[in-house]
Amino acid sequence: MPQIIDGKAISTEIKDELKVKVEELKAQGTQVCLAVIQVGNDPASSVYVGNKKKACAYIGIESLAYELPEETTQEELLELIGELNAKKEVNGILVQLPLPKHIDEDAVIRAIDPKKDVDGFHPQSVGALCIGQPGFVSCTPAGIIQLLKRSGIEIAGKNCVVIGRSNIVGKPMALLLLRENGTVTVTHSKTRDLKEVTKQADILVVAIGKPKMITREYVKEGAVVIDVGIHRNENSKLCGDVDYDDVAPLCSAITPVPGGVGPMTIAMLMHNCVESVALQNL
Ligand code: NDP
Repeated sequence: MPQIIDGKAISTEIKDELKVKVEELKAQGTQVCLAVIQVGNDPASSVYVGNKKKACAYIGIESLAYELPEETTQEELLELIGELNAKKEVNGILVQLPLPKHIDEDAVIRAIDPKKDVDGFHPQSVGALCIGQPGFVSCTPAGIIQLLKRSGIEIAGKNCVVIGRSNIVGKPMALLLLRENGTVTVTHSKTRDLKEVTKQADILVVAIGKPKMITREYVKEGAVVIDVGIHRNENSKLCGDVDYDDVAPLCSAITPVPGGVGPMTIAMLMHNCVESVALQNL
């Protein structure tokens, strides 16, 4: 039987640790504060924003919600970000993506002060990660490192294969595994003979965005498999990029969907909010 990596329990552990840190900061006169901006009322985005507010309340982080109408212009949004950048009492700024089509997401991300970029998407944050300097790290890959470490899984010296090279998951994931001294291979849609590459993996991180694509033919016996994917099937049941029932018996450890990587993303966002206080005092 594989070790089932319990993201729900680990994310709660992290949130409880953060609760203590937030209390300590409060006692020293600092109230951690996150500004969350949502443009339009996409139902999925509203759920994510709601979950972020709930996590803030649990930990004791103040959350400021900016719910802007769909027709908000890019200039208006940039102006609000400018105001929040200047507010000393705001530690973190999060703009919920995706934004309406008439707004340039890259320009919005670049407008956030890198010291308040708790999502870790600003080019300066990505550059800092690349060269090992202090900065925010994209929450999902940072959460995966925590899942591995807190489950007692050694990364150093292991063959780590990442499927997917997106800016928010695949690329930062590869950089983080490298920082932890893994031997890292990144694969993508143009990779020749994907199975041959993934079968070399001691740790396989799957972020393809294709339901249940990874079956046992892609996995080496005894591998650790981390499934980032999240999909809802025709019966409204959640599944990942990995065919869990097929792959699990072969693995030494695996993350389930739901209850694996998913809960870690918000926990690491909260972690970044708390870290922002120290970063702003550097
Ligand atoms: P993207 O669609 O941005 O990236 C998918 C990547 O997979 C691309 O790099 C693409 O390659 C690669 N790919 C696609 N098809 C293949 C294939 N047949 N063989 C090899 N590589 C392939 O997705 P994201 O990184 O944003 O997300 C991945 C998954 O993770 C999604 O299911 C998403 O919903 C989920 N997710 C979950 C989060 C969580 O909190 N649990 C957070 C973020 C994402 P190429 O670059 O060549 O096109």
